[in-house]
Amino acid sequence: MNIVFINASIFDGSGAVPFSGELRVENNRITEVATYPSVVPHGDAHIIDCQGKVLMPGLVEAHAHLTWPTSVERFVPGMYLPPEDLALTAARNARILLDHGFTSAYSAGALSKTLEIKLAEHIETGGLPGPRLVPSSIEREPPNETELDPGQVMDQLRGADGMRKFVSDCAKLGAKSVKFLISGESALKPGASHELLYTEQELMAAGEQARIDHVWLTGHAHAAEAVKLGVLSGFRVLYHCTYADDEALDLLESRRDSIFVAPTIGIVQATLDTTPPPHFDMAHMKADAAIVMEHQKALVPKLRARGIRLLPGGDYGFPYNPNGRNAWDLELWVQQLGYTPCEVLHAATALGGQLMGLGDELGLLKKGYLADILLVDGDPTKDVRILQDKQRLVAVMKDGRFHKAPGMLQ
Ligand SMILES: [Zn+2]
Repeated sequence: MNIVFINASIFDGSGAVPFSGELRVENNRITEVATYPSVVPHGDAHIIDCQGKVLMPGLVEAHAHLTWPTSVERFVPGMYLPPEDLALTAARNARILLDHGFTSAYSAGALSKTLEIKLAEHIETGGLPGPRLVPSSIEREPPNETELDPGQVMDQLRGADGMRKFVSDCAKLGAKSVKFLISGESALKPGASHELLYTEQELMAAGEQARIDHVWLTGHAHAAEAVKLGVLSGFRVLYHCTYADDEALDLLESRRDSIFVAPTIGIVQATLDTTPPPHFDMAHMKADAAIVMEHQKALVPKLRARGIRLLPGGDYGFPYNPNGRNAWDLELWVQQLGYTPCEVLHAATALGGQLMGLGDELGLLKKGYLADILLVDGDPTKDVRILQDKQRLVAVMKDGRFHKAPGMLQ
């Protein structure tokens, strides 16, 4: 069915303010966009009168964890579920992200070797509702004793050959992205953010293998050295980059056309905000989060000034930072990182399309682009908080099909 949206206020993802106009969708593509007084061909299309509401590209979550169990619909104390429950929970989380306007998600690691890969297949064939998904391997870190660390791998091999084998095994299973914790995480183990978890030789081997197997590398990197090695070994996405020094910034800038950075402040603010139950001492986590937030506030303007592509995405899925709250990141970027609503929406849509590897066909409302479209009651370019309320999403379209059609209650 062909669809024409009329009387729309169109935020096209470029970062420009909305304009009044019309947009035509045929099959799964946008075929025409017009600014009034021009119009698009109506022909036999189903007409949707937007009554001045805002039409915008679907959102992209750059740091998704669909297997992290907690969502806005279901609180799970802790991180681990039996395999059957984990599979159903991940499928449910995929639907929840789409309900909330996220038509694409780039995984930052899974709690299962194959679950996200299978989930992506079920979503692509239309059987399950969910965002376009770049599925990840299990989150890879070296062997360790703590139970707090998510994603311990069965295949605990070290050394260059172990890294090559891990990347190659993930690629064979169908992962598109392979996640490594290049540095540790102080929220889990005090001081660990400053520790490198792999040697240069190991990371270089992982990078070489990833290029051979055509998978992307995604890295958790707080320490400056972790950022540098991540860039040098060919990681495509680096999360956090909290303690990047000038040398790390120079390196990131030198690869700015092929690398993405997601500061991931949602989890940081959530850690600061939450009141844990009495038996759960979060004192050191909160102290670390306060330091990280101050660093991010100083770091992000420097990264932007160097033209490095930054994306919202906040590690949602923890008990105090549920899947489904992902659009909260946009508000935090405006409040804490100095972005205007238009700027952060550009990052979450147009830059998101590039992150998904579909930069010339996803993330903009533009002729020829994939029809991932939201119709919003209210103007998020004036108040980005509107996107946190799924009731304000009048329509959610992914790949030319309505997940939520106008008039549908949810
Ligand atoms: Zn994460």
